[in-house]
Amino acid sequence: TLKVAIVGRPNVGKSTLFNRLTGRKLALVAPMPGLTRDRREGAFEVAGQPATLIDTAGLEDAEAGSIAERMRVQSERAIAEADIVLFVIDARVGVTPVDEMFADIARQSGHPVILVANKAEGSAGESGVYEAYSLGLGDPVAISAEHGEGIGDLHDRLETEAEALLRAGIAEAEAAEAEERPIRVAIIGRPNAGKSTLFNRLAGEERAITGPEPGLTRDAIAIDLTWGDQAFKLYDTAGLRRRARVHEEAEKLSVSDALRAIRFAEVVIVLLEADRALEKQDLHIAALAADEGRAMVIAINKWDLVRDKDAKRQEFRAEIDRLLPQIKGVPMVAISALTGRGLNQLMAQVGKAYELWNARFGTGKLNRWLSEVVDAHPPPAPGGRRLKLRYITQPGARPPRFVVFCSRPEAVPASYERYLINSLRDAFDLWGVPVRLFLRKGK
Ligand code: GDP
Repeated sequence: TLKVAIVGRPNVGKSTLFNRLTGRKLALVAPMPGLTRDRREGAFEVAGQPATLIDTAGLEDAEAGSIAERMRVQSERAIAEADIVLFVIDARVGVTPVDEMFADIARQSGHPVILVANKAEGSAGESGVYEAYSLGLGDPVAISAEHGEGIGDLHDRLETEAEALLRAGIAEAEAAEAEERPIRVAIIGRPNAGKSTLFNRLAGEERAITGPEPGLTRDAIAIDLTWGDQAFKLYDTAGLRRRARVHEEAEKLSVSDALRAIRFAEVVIVLLEADRALEKQDLHIAALAADEGRAMVIAINKWDLVRDKDAKRQEFRAEIDRLLPQIKGVPMVAISALTGRGLNQLMAQVGKAYELWNARFGTGKLNRWLSEVVDAHPPPAPGGRRLKLRYITQPGARPPRFVVFCSRPEAVPASYERYLINSLRDAFDLWGVPVRLFLRKGK
């Protein structure tokens, strides 16, 4: 079951909160000597599921001199054991140096911490609640354990953290499973870009028929292959092109083929031709892959035909970044499907893109990043009130999704959102991977 620890310096109201959450009689809190122990455990519920609450109360009674040390040891032990930490401060007193010491322990544990500002009944302790932000533990939940105020909010936060843990656990299991699973890859591109040639090269045998005429019939839909020591499942987009007879029809059909392959795939190789400029259709296909949230690598084929390779490379890089801003910085590999040149690099990039697509970043790391980018370039102040970006989490991957909690999400301009996304890519190396950023009112 889920374990939740209540941690904080003496007198902030840990026992009262323990009793409030476990539904015990308030009378038990009475500081009678001998009644409190170093630690208590009680049953309660988070999101309707049974959970254990650990209280580190009772240290108030410890002998002077040993208090600080015992408190620290007790708290560390409880925190280490807990899935979620409730870190309690006294909102009327504000943040004290001892609170800061406890906050450090909680933060260093790497466990999710909910900051609880207690004794905030009515509007008492308002300034203490604001001061609590300085602990860098996210938004404080203002409560009064004694009067039962804010307990619903606290339960909401517990529920959110519990769900995140559950998802992370599922993700971990998925990741473990995925290690054995091949990476699903689709090769998409205009007719005649060299998809079948590449497919055959990678497959190592003549699975599909290639020829100079676009839209040739192919039967293979997917094959398994190992490249390096990584397993891949390769999807061919040509399966549906059988019906296409004329060039025009093939061009049209290839988009629905592409979409089909994209949906199967985790990583999409967008195949371009070195001797042809980027066309609308290429952009359309690449945009489809990005919209579908797939990781992407651009392969520029027929590189064997290129004379001035440096100039060509720069030309493509500039064109891609200009015409496909939503996948800015996408990895680009020059290949020759015909000779096999560049294929190791291509498949290495596919593997890397897949890893980034699955990546999860810790809340601590993300929030340090957020405060840096907000400092470097503060959000605007529409209507004279500065927007506040408070907190960021990553609720999911494949592709990475982020939620930024802010004061007025609707007022955040698109340009600032782009700034955040680009900085995220930069900081976490998220190139070639769609990044989803959501703004929520928060809390
Ligand atoms: P698809 O329609 O995208 O499947 O394209 P194909 O694989 O059928 O290739 C179209 C034509 O381009 C064929 O004549 C291939 O031989 C040729 N081709 C494919 N890759 C390369 C390459 O790397 N270099 C050169 N010079 N020609 C290539």
